Amino acid sequence: RHYGIVYDNLVAAMRAELPKTVRFVAGRVSAVEAGPERQRVSIIGQPDVTARLLVLATGMGDILRRDVGIERRFVHQRQSLTFGFNVRPAGASAFKHPALTYYGERVSDGIDYLNFFPAGGVTRANLFVFREHTDPWVKALRDRPRETLIETLPGLLKTFGDFEVIDRVSSWLTDITVAENCKRDGVVLIGDAYQTSCPAAGTGVSRLLTDVERLCMVHVPQWMASPGMAAAKIAAFYDDPMKQAMDERGLELANFRRSLTIDTDLRWRARRQVHFSRRRILHEIDKFSPSFAARLRGLKRPQVEAVT
Ligand SMILES: Cc1cc2nc3c(=O)[nH]c(=O)nc-3n(C[C@H](O)[C@H](O)[C@H](O)COP(=O)(O)OP(=O)(O)OC[C@H]3O[C@@H](n4cnc5c(N)ncnc54)[C@H](O)[C@@H]3O)c2cc1C
Repeated sequence: RHYGIVYDNLVAAMRAELPKTVRFVAGRVSAVEAGPERQRVSIIGQPDVTARLLVLATGMGDILRRDVGIERRFVHQRQSLTFGFNVRPAGASAFKHPALTYYGERVSDGIDYLNFFPAGGVTRANLFVFREHTDPWVKALRDRPRETLIETLPGLLKTFGDFEVIDRVSSWLTDITVAENCKRDGVVLIGDAYQTSCPAAGTGVSRLLTDVERLCMVHVPQWMASPGMAAAKIAAFYDDPMKQAMDERGLELANFRRSLTIDTDLRWRARRQVHFSRRRILHEIDKFSPSFAARLRGLKRPQVEAVT
C-alpha cells in the first residue's frame, strides 16, 4: 500500500513531534570532536554545541565520520544504481494504475524494478538497476528517459499508459560499506552512517529506526545513568543482537535483489522462476479473492524474500 509521503515531509513531521524541551539547531556541521566526557559539534556560522553523547546520522557522507577516526570497509563497491524522476500521463487524464511495480523483462537489462507511486501531488518513479555507471545505457536513460525505458521495457506502456518525464533524472550510485573501528569514546553511528543500504532492498529506513529504537529504549538510558561516555559503553550498541540482525538482513537482501536480477547460474535461474511464478499466481488469486490472496501473502516465506 502506498501512502504517498515524501521523505522530506516524513522527516519534517517527526521533527515537529520533538518535545519543547529539546533544543533544535539546523545548520551544516563543519567538524566534530569526541572524547570520554564531552563531545563538540562545530556548525557553520553558529556557536559550537557540546553534549555528553554525539549520534552521527550523516547518511553516506564521509567527512564527519573521519573526524572521529572511524573508517569504512567496502562490502560491495558500486552495488546498484538508482534513478528518480517525476512523470505525468501523456494522451490520457490518468495512468491505468495509481501505483505500479514493474519488474525487468530480461536478465541482460540489469533492471530489478521500476516503481511508480503518487507522492507530493505528482507520480514519482524510482528505478533500481544493477549496471555499471559507465554503461552507455545509463547516459541514454538520463538524456532520453521515456524512450530508453520504452525500448528496455516493451510492455510498460500497455500496462501503465504513456507518460512524460517532467523533470531531470536524479541518480544515486550506492556502495555497500560498513563502518570499522567504530567502538570509540563519545560517538555512535546510526543508519547509513554505520552501514549503507541498497535502495532496491528497501531496508534502509527499517534499519535506521531499529538503531534509533535500540538507542532510545535500551542503551542511552543506561549510558546516561553513570558518568562518562567511554568506548566500553558505546560497544554495547554495536553488539546489540537486534541491531546486528537487522544489519545482517540488510546485507542479505541487497545480495538477494542483485542475484535475483542479474545472476545467470542454474540456481538463480531456478530461483527467479519460482519467485516470479509465485507472484503471478498470487496476482491471479487476488483478482477473484483479495482476502485469500492477502492471507497467502501473510504466510511465512523464506526470510530473505520477505520484504520485496
Ligand atoms: C532513490 C532512493 C530510494 C530509496 N528507497 C527506499 C525505500 O523504499 N525504503 C527504504 O527503507 N530505504 C530506501 N532508500 C534508502 C534510505 O533512503 C536510506 O537508507 C535512509 O534515508 C538512511 O537514513 P539516514 O538518516 O541514515 O541517512 P540520510 O537519510 O541520508 O540522512 C542523512 C542526513 O544527514 C545530513 N548531513 C550529512 N552531512 C551533514 C553535515 N555535515 N551537516 C549537517 N547535515 C549533514 C544530510 O543532509 C541528510 O539529511 C532509498 C534511497 C534512495 C536514494
